[in-house]
Amino acid sequence: MARPRTSLTVQRTEWLTPHLIRVHLGGPGFAAFRPGEFTDSYVKFIFPRDGVEVLRTYTVRSVDQLAGEIAADFVFHGAEGIAGPWAASVQPGETIDLYGPGGAYSPRSDADWHLLAGDEAALPAIATALETMNADATGMAFVEVAGPDDELPLKKPDGVELTWLHRGVRPPGELLAEAVRQAPWAHGQVQVFIHGEAKSVMHDLRRYVRRERGVSAEWAASISGYWRLGRTEEGFREWKAELTASESAAANS
Ligand SMILES: Cc1cc2nc3c(=O)[nH]c(=O)nc-3n(C[C@H](O)[C@H](O)[C@H](O)COP(=O)(O)OP(=O)(O)OC[C@H]3O[C@@H](n4cnc5c(N)ncnc54)[C@H](O)[C@@H]3O)c2cc1C
Repeated sequence: MARPRTSLTVQRTEWLTPHLIRVHLGGPGFAAFRPGEFTDSYVKFIFPRDGVEVLRTYTVRSVDQLAGEIAADFVFHGAEGIAGPWAASVQPGETIDLYGPGGAYSPRSDADWHLLAGDEAALPAIATALETMNADATGMAFVEVAGPDDELPLKKPDGVELTWLHRGVRPPGELLAEAVRQAPWAHGQVQVFIHGEAKSVMHDLRRYVRRERGVSAEWAASISGYWRLGRTEEGFREWKAELTASESAAANS
C-alpha cells in the first residue's frame, strides 16, 4: 500500500450499534489526507506501544471534504486488543497517525451481478460498495452480525438483496459460509467481495467461489480474511504468510 502518513484529530465518536463505533477524524492534518479511489479504501492506524509502532487496519467508511473529516467504523469486540478498546474510549481532541489509504476493490458496472459477504469488520466496506453501485445493479449481500441490534440501515440498489445473519453463539463466519453456499447462483458474470474471519473465508468461501463455482481471479480477487479468531493483527499476518507458503508448496508439488 502507498505509505503517506497523516496525523488526524478525533472530532467525535458515536455508537452505531452495540458492537460498532464510528470515529470521525479531521483537524489540521486532513488537508494532507488523499482519499482513495476504491470502495474498500483502508488505512493503517498507528498505535505507539513501548517504542514500537503497532498498526491496525480499518476501512475508510466515508470522506467528507466539506467538513474536512473521514469516518471509520470500529468493531468493539471486548476489552482485548488495541484498536477496538481505543475507539470505545477515545476523546475528541486526541490525535492519531495513520498510513494510507490503500485499496483494490470497487463494484464494476460490467458485472452481471454482485456477491458481497462479510461480518461486522467488513460491513463498512460492504456498505460503501452498495452505496456506490449503479441503481440498476443486481446481486446478493450477506452480512453476519452478533444479533438483531447490530443491523444498520444500508443504502443499496433495489436489485441487490440484503440478508442479515444473526450469529448468536455460533463461531464467527460459520453462518455466513452456510448462507453463501446455499444461495442460488445466478447466471452471468459475478463480481465477488467476501471478507471477515479469516479461516471461514479462506478455507471455505474462497474455495467455494473459486473452485466450486469457477469464478476467475479477475472477478474474485477480493476474497480474504480481515481478522483471525484468537490472533492479534500481528498474529493474523503470520497466519496469512503460513497459508500462502503452504498453498504455493501444494501448487508446486
Ligand atoms: C483491509 C482491512 C480492512 C478492515 N476494516 C475494518 C473496519 O472497517 N472495521 C473493523 O472493525 N475492522 C476492520 N478490519 C479488521 C481489523 O483490522 C481487525 O479486527 C484488527 O485485528 C482489530 O484490532 P484490535 O487491536 O481491536 O484487536 P487485535 O489486537 O488485533 O486482536 C485482539 C483479539 O481480538 C480478536 N478480534 C480482532 N478483531 C475482531 C473482530 N472484528 N471480531 C471479534 N474478535 C476480533 C482477535 O482474534 C484477538 O483475539 C479490517 C481489516 C483489513 C485487513
